[in-house]
Amino acid sequence: MMPKEELLSRLSALHTSGEPLNLTEAKRSHPALVRAAFAQTPFLGWKRALQEAGIDYSQIVVRLTDHVICEICGKDMLNLPNHLRFKHEWTLRDYKEAYPDAEIWPDTLIAAKNRFDDPALLPHWEPLWTHEYALDRMRAWSDAGYPMSYADMTRQDLALTMYLSKHRDDLGSYDEVLAKVGLDAKTIRLHIDSEYTNPDEVVAGIRDRQQQGLRLNGSAVRKDGRRGRPLIQAARKWFGSWDEALRAASIDPADVRLGPPVVYTHADSVIEAIRNLRQQGLSLSHGNVVRDLKTGQTLTKAARKWFGGWDGALRAAGIDPDEVRLNPPVVYTHAGSVIEAIRNLRQQGLSLNYGSVFHDLKTGRTLIKKARKWFGSWDGALRAAGIDPADVRLRKARRSPGEATDALGAAAKTP
Ligand SMILES: [Zn+2]
Repeated sequence: MMPKEELLSRLSALHTSGEPLNLTEAKRSHPALVRAAFAQTPFLGWKRALQEAGIDYSQIVVRLTDHVICEICGKDMLNLPNHLRFKHEWTLRDYKEAYPDAEIWPDTLIAAKNRFDDPALLPHWEPLWTHEYALDRMRAWSDAGYPMSYADMTRQDLALTMYLSKHRDDLGSYDEVLAKVGLDAKTIRLHIDSEYTNPDEVVAGIRDRQQQGLRLNGSAVRKDGRRGRPLIQAARKWFGSWDEALRAASIDPADVRLGPPVVYTHADSVIEAIRNLRQQGLSLSHGNVVRDLKTGQTLTKAARKWFGGWDGALRAAGIDPDEVRLNPPVVYTHAGSVIEAIRNLRQQGLSLNYGSVFHDLKTGRTLIKKARKWFGSWDGALRAAGIDPADVRLRKARRSPGEATDALGAAAKTP
């Protein structure tokens, strides 16, 4: 096995020379290094290997394929199954049997289809699932101090547990996956099951938190990972609810809550909430509000009730809905968000050619930069969003010759 020092120094050299180090690409160009990273004991993995090699994962060069090669005729294909059917009259199953290791979809399409929903607690750092990424993620949850039981993981990262069960044949049971990343399933379960074995211990646990000045409302305790979650679970088990357990510890549940649950009982409260969000600098796009805010769904529902829709509520709060859409928060933290942004622009009828996006949109530069990061190029991102880059350029060109020159000029700059 490759010694760890050698692995790290080779990684560092590759990174310095600008080689892409995202997992899907590394598995193609440097499979031995990936294998070595996952063969280390104690468990290392790719993410931690990069870390230990002093490489910032967010700074690595990411290369995603935007085509696959047809093993039958050697042609580059975007949609291989179609090609197989119409050109060779093969089914996908025939092909998989004949070429078990062949790639079926380009990375960009898989990334687009995944549409990673970022779990708020542990954002994704790879644009695509691979077995290696799943293992790295498992280990990262543990390294960050989160509880690791299967039930906890399903709550924290449903996509991860779904991936693990889908690939159980390759990766093994959940317990085996834990073992692979250097964690002991028995310890994890024992930890949760044995700490508070009777009601008195739960009460003692609550008083402990109180003395340490830790927050005692249910959601804060639940979020408190290994320290909090077992306590909540035991409280439910022995007292039926967290509130009952608090009362048993002579604590009034009303005192520990941050405030009453948010209800938007009238039109003004919706407007007020919207203005508050704006003041906090938060994105007001419908998608972001629903996705990112705890009370987002309640708020947008109330907006529908009082104002017929989110746009109506924004207008009532003196905010132009179009402006909200044109100024999404400038963070495209994963491949899916780039694709979503591109589709939004298209829906708004805005030009998608490189030059227009780069020069005319406030967030254009960031979007293009992230498109490059996740898809290798702007064209790659367009394709992943199901848009033909040639179409984007041609359509612009048909409108006016002057614009066409600009568009083509800009397109020429596209890497
Ligand atoms: Zn072919």
